[in-house]
Amino acid sequence: MILDHHPYTINEAGHLAIGGMDAVELANKYGTPLYVFDVSLIRENCRAFVNTFQELGVRAQVAYASKAFSSVAMLQVIRQENLSLDVVSQGELYTALLADFPVKKIHLHGNNKSYEELEMAIDNDIGCIVVDNFQEIDLISHILQEKDKTISVLMRVTPGIEPNTHQYIVTGNEDSKFGFSLENGQADKAFLQLYEHEKINFKGLHNHIGSQIFETEVFQLSADILFHKLAEWHAEYNFVPEVLNLGGGFGIRYTEDDQPLSYAEHVNKIVTAVQDQSESFNLPMPEIWIEPGRSIVGNAGITLYSVGSMKEIPGVRKYISVDGGMTDNIRPALYQAKYEAVLANKAALPASESVSVAGKCCESGDMLIWDLSVPEIDSDDILAVFSTGAYGYSMANHYNRFAKPAAVFVEDGNDKLVVKRETYHDVVKNDISYE
Ligand SMILES: *Cc1c(COP(=O)(O)O)cnc(C)c1O
Repeated sequence: MILDHHPYTINEAGHLAIGGMDAVELANKYGTPLYVFDVSLIRENCRAFVNTFQELGVRAQVAYASKAFSSVAMLQVIRQENLSLDVVSQGELYTALLADFPVKKIHLHGNNKSYEELEMAIDNDIGCIVVDNFQEIDLISHILQEKDKTISVLMRVTPGIEPNTHQYIVTGNEDSKFGFSLENGQADKAFLQLYEHEKINFKGLHNHIGSQIFETEVFQLSADILFHKLAEWHAEYNFVPEVLNLGGGFGIRYTEDDQPLSYAEHVNKIVTAVQDQSESFNLPMPEIWIEPGRSIVGNAGITLYSVGSMKEIPGVRKYISVDGGMTDNIRPALYQAKYEAVLANKAALPASESVSVAGKCCESGDMLIWDLSVPEIDSDDILAVFSTGAYGYSMANHYNRFAKPAAVFVEDGNDKLVVKRETYHDVVKNDISYE
């Protein structure tokens, strides 16, 4: 049973329930496609990280990587749970300010931060900029001189690790567009520029190895490599690191094949690794920062679609088409990502046929799920795809001039619209007539 490994239940009507709400009723009320988020699960995920650090008595910041799903309501929940926040663009920073996120807990990332982005970050006195390259150091320097301000920074480095995940989302290897190489001397050169800068408070190193990672060993390995460098700088320049940021990428369950570790287990392993390293190098224990995105919101979101046309190719397969696709979830087309789904209105019925779920875009590659087992399926059934909370809405696009779906939060038996469905007026609003 698919529902055995997703955090959702079946109600008395035999329908899928999310956050105490009937998924079929939500689809009827708000229309489809519809993103639905179970807020209590988002909170549970936040607390699993934060509470484990607290129980271990370790100073830490858990920064939600808001690129996974950024909206005002989402960032309000993250603020309520006392997490910090990663933003990677002016748009994400703008959203954070709109959500009244405490500026000191905002961290700015990016491999090509513009002057305007850096200026906005510095003007708003955000907590930290994660510096990625030499041009950026020059830009920050320039802005700080001009405005006579100071800023805290971390340096992003590439430790040359390749985790066992999809190659498109590996970022910690040496041949990466992100960060300074630890191996070719660039990190040392950048260190001197940052450490000796009178307006920059250089706090330590950052590394994000990749995404959808199931092994803790890669985090331990990266802590080991980063500490070797920190120890060198300590010996040579008496630098004492205040922060060690090991990034995000904690894997979640999309399908039965995914066997994620508990978040508490990840945190435990990371803390032990950092404690061991700081002891063996005789350095004070730095504050540990992590940056979970997918693991905060991924399993808390589902997408509801209406089933439309169906096509059976005898002896080959049966295609069923839904009213969304790569416009609201590009991950299957982009990463060959796998998902599981149920018919929300037939959640209690046993599976009796196998179908492949197609999106409605004009692309053969717009397939959401291959070979899904479902009860006997009809047009107008409601398909609920699981674990779409991360990188769904945030990667949504207007291909084929589709309007982006709405998003609804459910919690304690209440539902609330938090992102409006786009209208076709929204889709064409920037078009300008040529006659
Ligand atoms: C994408 C990203 C994250 C979050 O990754 P998840 O897989 O969503 O946890 C964290 N840190 C940085 C720097 C990232 O680019």
